[in-house]
Amino acid sequence: MDLKDCLKKMQDAGRLAHVTTPVDAVHELGGVCAKLDGGKALVFDHIKGYDMPVTTGMWWNRENVAAIFDTPVDQLSSLFAEAVASLHQNPVTPVLMENAPAQSVVMPEPDLTKLPVPTLALLDGGPYFDNCVILAKDPDTGVRNASIHRLMVTDKDRMGILMDMGRHLRDYYERAEARGVPLEITINNGVHPAYFVAATTPSSAAPIDEDELSVASYLLGEPARLCRSRTVDVEGIADAQIVIEAEILPYVREPEGPFGEVSGYYAAQEDRWVVSVKAITMQMDPILHLLHPGREVWNGQGLGLEANLFRTISKQVKGLKKVYMTHGGSHYHVVLQMDPPSNGMAKNAICAAFAAFSDLQMVTVVNSDVNIYDAEDVERAMVTRCDPARDIVIIPGAFGHELNPVVHDNMAAKMGFDCTYPVPKPASYNRVSFAEVNIADYEVI
Ligand code: MN
Repeated sequence: MDLKDCLKKMQDAGRLAHVTTPVDAVHELGGVCAKLDGGKALVFDHIKGYDMPVTTGMWWNRENVAAIFDTPVDQLSSLFAEAVASLHQNPVTPVLMENAPAQSVVMPEPDLTKLPVPTLALLDGGPYFDNCVILAKDPDTGVRNASIHRLMVTDKDRMGILMDMGRHLRDYYERAEARGVPLEITINNGVHPAYFVAATTPSSAAPIDEDELSVASYLLGEPARLCRSRTVDVEGIADAQIVIEAEILPYVREPEGPFGEVSGYYAAQEDRWVVSVKAITMQMDPILHLLHPGREVWNGQGLGLEANLFRTISKQVKGLKKVYMTHGGSHYHVVLQMDPPSNGMAKNAICAAFAAFSDLQMVTVVNSDVNIYDAEDVERAMVTRCDPARDIVIIPGAFGHELNPVVHDNMAAKMGFDCTYPVPKPASYNRVSFAEVNIADYEVI
C-alpha cells in the first residue's frame, strides 16, 4: 500500500476531492487549503509550471484517515495504541526491497526546484516540505530513527531544517557534529500514514534505542519496506513517492524561516541547520504530499499522541477512560476523561500527562459523564467542578515546546485543571437527565 492506494481508498469512501483549476504553488495553493481546511482531502491536479500534482488534507479530519485504515473513527486511536504497544511486545524488522518503486526514476542532477513544493503562508520564508519522514541512524548504535521536521528549500540542492530540542534526530546530529562528520539522512515524501504515525511516536513511547518503524509495520500488516540508498548509508522508504538522499552538514548554519507553524503563529527566521542534497529518486508519476499546517498536525499527531498518552498514563493511575487532544489546543492541551478511584488521583494523572509528553502546556481532567469531544461540556465541568483555589496545578518553568510562543528558552509554566467531582460523588453532582427516545418516531413539523 502506498500513498496512491491511500488516495484511492479515500476517493472510494467519498473523502477526496480534486482541485482541477490550475493553482500557483506560491501562496495560492495555501489559500485554497485555508478555505477547504477540515473537509475532504485534496489533490491539486495542476500546479502552474509543474507537471506533478500535490495532495494535502489527509489529516484534516479523522474520517479521511479512518477510510485508509478501514477502521471506525472512534477506534483509530486504540488501533494506533496497539501499534505502539507492538513496538515493545513484538518488534518487526523492516525488509530491504530490490527495485523499489521509489527508485524508478532518478533525477540526473538533484534539483528541488523541479518539484512543486508550495510556499504556504503569506510570510513564509520560502517553499517548505512539512511532512517528510526523515530516516537516520544513531552514529553510535546504528539504531534507526524516523521523525518529521520542516525543511525550507533554499537552493537546487540545499534546504534549511529545524531539529527541535529533545528529538532523536537532533541527538544523532550533535554526536555526528562533535566528530566533525555530517549526519546522513533520507527524506521520504508521500508515504502511507502508517509511517507518519511511526514517525510521530513520542520518545516516551519509543525511546532512542528503539526503531519506531515497527509501529508502521504493525499498521501495514507487513514489515515496513525500505530500499538501499545510492549515496548515503541510510535506507529510504521503498514505497515513498519521492526519496531525497542527503546529509546534515556539521558546523554550518544558515537562515531558515519564517514558517507558519501548527501553533497558528510564525516561527521566526534564525540561523539553523543545513541539509545538502545528494540524490533525488521517485516513483513513476509521483504525487507530492504536504500538510496544511494546523488542523492536519493536531489530527496527525493528536491521534497517535492520544494512544501513547493513554498507555503511559494508565500505567500510573487507575480510572482513565479516554484521552482527547483538543482542536483549539494545537497539541498543547489534552483532556483526560477519568473517574478517579480516590481523591487527589486526578492531580496524579495531570503529572503523568506532563511527564509523558513534554509539549503539553495544559491538562484538563473530567469525569466519564462529560463528553470530552464537546468543548462546551468540558467548560461546564470546569466552572462547576474545579475550585480554582484547590484544583488548579501550576508548575512554573517546566520544559516545553519551542514552537509555542509562550515558551522561552524551552521553558514555561504548565497548568492542570482538576475538574472531577469528589469521591464519593455528592448528589449535587448528578447531571440532569431525560428519557431516551428515538426522535425518528415523532412527527415534528
Ligand atoms: Mn526515535
